[in-house]
Amino acid sequence: MIIANWKCNGSTEMVLSWFEAYNIEFNFENYDFDIFIGLALPSIYLNHFDREDSQFNFAEWGVQDVDHSDGSRTGAISVDMLIDMECDFSIIGHSERRQIFNEDNDLIKEKLKSLNNRIMPVLCIGETKEENDKGITKDILKNQLEIVNGLELDESFTIAYEPVWAIGSGLTPEPKDINEIHKYIKDVVQSNSANNLIPTVLYGGSVTDKNAESFFKEEFVDGALVGGASLDGTTFAKIVNIFNSTKKT
Ligand code: PEP
Repeated sequence: MIIANWKCNGSTEMVLSWFEAYNIEFNFENYDFDIFIGLALPSIYLNHFDREDSQFNFAEWGVQDVDHSDGSRTGAISVDMLIDMECDFSIIGHSERRQIFNEDNDLIKEKLKSLNNRIMPVLCIGETKEENDKGITKDILKNQLEIVNGLELDESFTIAYEPVWAIGSGLTPEPKDINEIHKYIKDVVQSNSANNLIPTVLYGGSVTDKNAESFFKEEFVDGALVGGASLDGTTFAKIVNIFNSTKKT
């Protein structure tokens, strides 16, 4: 699984040129069609063009965040609206939502509950540099994962492990350390969810076409959530091609 997170970037012109570049680079001939390739463009562009058109048909469509309720909530987009617009997934709990918009675990849990069994949730978790330096990464992740406790999770439930210090910095943990953390995340969710689900776990944080292979080779890395490098259609297609060549779904 590879997901692009465009964040608050893009324009009509960029969307169209991105797909053109992507489709030139994307290795259609050797593509394993079971691989989930998700695009979380700014939601305003979701229905800006014909998603049925063949140039877009490799993609699953998602959003970068969602609200847990509807009605008098100015600026919000609800889960019902995502279903109405045929969205496939929503990211929740991104560190930028936690830090800039002050979202806490209670709110993120409400979002998870409103998505669960309806639209695939992609829950972001990760420690800060300070927490990493203190050696408390696992404690922080366990705390962020408390929101799954006792929940009957949908099979599609996905986690993106995104160390905050790796996002947009060009820094990443060592692949073997990411692998160990992914195993830990899978174990925690399996132990604490009502249905003992083993989630899909993506790595996110400064993934590029240069370092992607080193992460994808690791046993418990099920794919990537890609920010900055996803803004270039050619680079994103290269990352998908690298993932495809490791034959993971
Ligand atoms: C992100 O913020 O979700 C992300 C993965 O960013 P980047 O790839 O730019 O580090």
